[in-house]
Amino acid sequence: FQVKAEDVLRTIREKQIEMIDVHIIDMPGIWQHVTIPVSEVDEETFSHGIPFDGSSIRGFRGIEESDMLMVPDPDTAVIDPFAPVPTLSLVADVYDPKHVAYQRDPRRVAQNAEAYLKASGIADTSFWGPELEFFIFDSVRYINQGHHAAYMVDSGEGFWNSFQEGSLGHTIRTKEGYFPVPPLDSTAALRTAMVKALQSVGIRVEMHHHEVATAGQGEIDLRFNTLTKQADTVMMYKYVVRNVAQQHGKTVTFMPKPIFGDNGNGMHVHQSLWKDGKPLFYAEEPDAYAHMSPLALSYIAGVLKHARALLAFTNPSTNSYRRLVPGYEAPVNIVFSHGNRSAAIRIPVNNNAKASRIEFRTPDATSNPYLAFAALLMAGLDGIRKGLDPVKEGFGPMDKNIYALSAAELATIQSVPGSLGESLDALEQDHEFLLQGDVFSEDLIRTWIDYKRANEVDAVNLRPHPMEFELYFNS
Ligand code: GLU
Ligand code: MG
Ligand code: MG
Repeated sequence: FQVKAEDVLRTIREKQIEMIDVHIIDMPGIWQHVTIPVSEVDEETFSHGIPFDGSSIRGFRGIEESDMLMVPDPDTAVIDPFAPVPTLSLVADVYDPKHVAYQRDPRRVAQNAEAYLKASGIADTSFWGPELEFFIFDSVRYINQGHHAAYMVDSGEGFWNSFQEGSLGHTIRTKEGYFPVPPLDSTAALRTAMVKALQSVGIRVEMHHHEVATAGQGEIDLRFNTLTKQADTVMMYKYVVRNVAQQHGKTVTFMPKPIFGDNGNGMHVHQSLWKDGKPLFYAEEPDAYAHMSPLALSYIAGVLKHARALLAFTNPSTNSYRRLVPGYEAPVNIVFSHGNRSAAIRIPVNNNAKASRIEFRTPDATSNPYLAFAALLMAGLDGIRKGLDPVKEGFGPMDKNIYALSAAELATIQSVPGSLGESLDALEQDHEFLLQGDVFSEDLIRTWIDYKRANEVDAVNLRPHPMEFELYFNS
């Protein structure tokens, strides 16, 4: 059942909505919006669209061809729980002035990927279950301690200072946040408030809990959904979680590694393929590895084979690579395994066919979910089309704790890239699989690589690092 423009216009009248707030997604994956009084809203808003300046959106067009249109998708309409007056929130697709779908619109890429899956005949539906982790901080202030610019972080669970040993107040022992009851878990009530706000905008939540980092790390788990819808949900999720925190005088970060020496924030992505209402990843046979079907194993092989390039989309910040280090439940090696949290792909325990899925553990929430999910799907499909076998490709299964492997054992398996620069280089070399069916355009990939190199890799690499003062100031 598809919501239409007339349904939205009726809702506006019935609920006495005063404003509509229309969102698009920029290339790095941040919501951008315009707000329109309902007196200016009619059928045309949904057919013709709303003009905006595309040259001011990161990764979009140049100044010489800047006129663009956002066309709201009626299916995404929900009442914004944070707006000061009754406001209907919508997500829009981006078009050029000739009304041609804009190929750099991330939402378009996600829709392309879903259409490509259907056309492939392999499956008709893909399901996505991202697990976003985040830190709740009272305040993040920079304080000057000798040569360090240090974070002072207080989530209300005691005091934690990422660079300084010891503190005057009570603290939870490092990495023991998971998950004792309150009062140790002092952000439980806030997470419940977040869940209620998520439910109010129609998002189905499976549970929330404290995460493993010492204090204030949380996770709220979403019910699985189809690709574009789930990417829409990720955008709304971040908006809701941040705004509920704000209402309580807190702030939230999804940054992959905000605190040195403690666990980072991942966005593990659970995924599965279905056809005619039947799950395709499950194998009944008791000797099938982790009850994975041959098709699922090929999908795994595709994802792992393209992993180094994929990380340019799933781990697209310089900070992403500070999380992908041994010892913090984040993956470091390009292998798959049953239950092993140090592998890039974990196959969760699955007692029934419907729950059968894989979990790709490298991603983090600095990714643009539309591009990250679409890229993952394309890699998996490439593996299926080529009939790849993850065992023959040397990707495991690896059922030992990888963090504890000897150097000789480690030498036999591939590592994830060590930096965003390396991932972008890998993407530059390996992106043919993304161009299939024109799901991604060469232009988008080029823009992505150039944007990330200039604005992020170079921006970080060219600046003296605080730690360099500690190491070299007196040398
Ligand atoms: N926080 C860990 C990470 O960075 C994951 C913890 C978990 O298994 O949920 O991926
Ligand atoms: Mg987690
Ligand atoms: Mg997980």
